[in-house]
Amino acid sequence: MIVMKFGGSSVESAAAIQRVASIVKSRLERQPVVVVSAMGKTTNKLLALATDAVEGRRGRALEQLGELRDYHLSEARQLVSGEEWAALETSITDHIQELGELITGLSVLGELTPRFVDAISSYGERLSSRIVTAAFRSSGMDAVHADSRRLIVTDNRHTQANPIYPETYARLCDQVAPLAREGKVVVMGGFIAATANGVTTTLGRGGSDFTAAIVGAGIGAEEIQIWTDVDGMMTADPRSVPEARRLKLISFAEAAELAYFGAKVLHPATVLPAVEKNIPIVILNSRRPEVSGTRIVKDAVPCANPIKSIACKRHITVVNIHSTRMLMAYGFLARIFEVFNRYETAVDMLSTSEVSVSATIDNTKNLEKIQAELEQFSEVRVERDRAIICLVGDNIRCTPGIAARIFGALSPVNVLMVSQGGSQWNLSLVVDDTDLLKAVQLLHREFFQELDPAVFE
Ligand code: ADP
Ligand code: ASP
Ligand code: MG
Repeated sequence: MIVMKFGGSSVESAAAIQRVASIVKSRLERQPVVVVSAMGKTTNKLLALATDAVEGRRGRALEQLGELRDYHLSEARQLVSGEEWAALETSITDHIQELGELITGLSVLGELTPRFVDAISSYGERLSSRIVTAAFRSSGMDAVHADSRRLIVTDNRHTQANPIYPETYARLCDQVAPLAREGKVVVMGGFIAATANGVTTTLGRGGSDFTAAIVGAGIGAEEIQIWTDVDGMMTADPRSVPEARRLKLISFAEAAELAYFGAKVLHPATVLPAVEKNIPIVILNSRRPEVSGTRIVKDAVPCANPIKSIACKRHITVVNIHSTRMLMAYGFLARIFEVFNRYETAVDMLSTSEVSVSATIDNTKNLEKIQAELEQFSEVRVERDRAIICLVGDNIRCTPGIAARIFGALSPVNVLMVSQGGSQWNLSLVVDDTDLLKAVQLLHREFFQELDPAVFE
């Protein structure tokens, strides 16, 4: 068995879904279970619609809902006909009607709770998974739809829920694996799940990759395929660095680091279930299925290049904490972390001197409270609009001269923070967001002129 996950752009239109159907059809002997994202940018649109409703723009919300309905119906209509179409059309319009009721409720309530956000954003995958199932059946496959909310069980941390693995794996193993073994193609929505009480949750933006890995681990798949709109994991985001090259192979540890530091092609949590069960992940392009993609594997990947890829994370805030009173005192760091911890705010990067600490955070929801508490024992300066650049490669530690090359390449750029050693295979820098693009391009030019043909294509 394999899991094949298709992202938003891979299912954005009837033509894209047809491509997906032919990719799946040509791999039926591997007993695929298919996980799909919402079509195109549907999740963004659903969230915008919820915001409109809650901020009193109900008319606009309903208008956008109409557009979403037309979009889903018109793409679906090109894929399905006959009785199958009658059932699908009813299902799409029922879902849209339900959504309309939720939106009306929301505009009366005037408050958008995380639970409500999940209820609304779940419709993208609920619709796409049904449309893709019907399209597969129309193209002659024995496809069945499975509602992920009955299979993936999570806690109630809405918008960022965590799977409860034993129960989830038991359900996948009992309810999905036997169907795949029988030759049925099970189609599930990614991203969406539910609590043990059946309340809809989601796994966080980009979470369909994570669903694919959970399903892969649950059914004991031999491979988890992430089909997207690029040829694989590249040496940098090809949107910023058009000359970026494909990695044929990368280790789980390196891929996890890249995903965490912004390589959007893979959701950061995806690697966990795959590592635990040692299932390789392969990233592939649904527009160019003949390209062999990137294989993410357990063992280190020997490589003549010290850096394998460059990731970056934008909209980062740096919190500089300075305390002369804490000079040489122990417990300073513990006190600082206790504050971040209490406000559930993750620190991504850290650098320290004797009396000061700089920490970067992504989530600024509780920043004011954090700042007020830190100011009880230190001076705090906050810098917004920064970006982290993360160079990843498991040879970084043992290659002398890397820092000199980085700073040489970045001589026109002001580097605000540096950190190496959190893991063996990551070196991170902070720059001003306005310098980010230039900095990434300069680094890419420095490190990817000559490429080890065993690793890069
Ligand atoms: P999907 O909808 O298929 O999940 P995403 O948009 O989430 O696709 O992820 C694919 C995008 O990730 C690519 O279009 C690319 O711009 C971006 N990306 C960022 N960093 C990288 C990288 N190192 N390699 C490949 N793609 C990357
Ligand atoms: N549809 C969800 C999102 O846009 C999940 C995903 O695409 O992975 O975030
Ligand atoms: Mg994605």
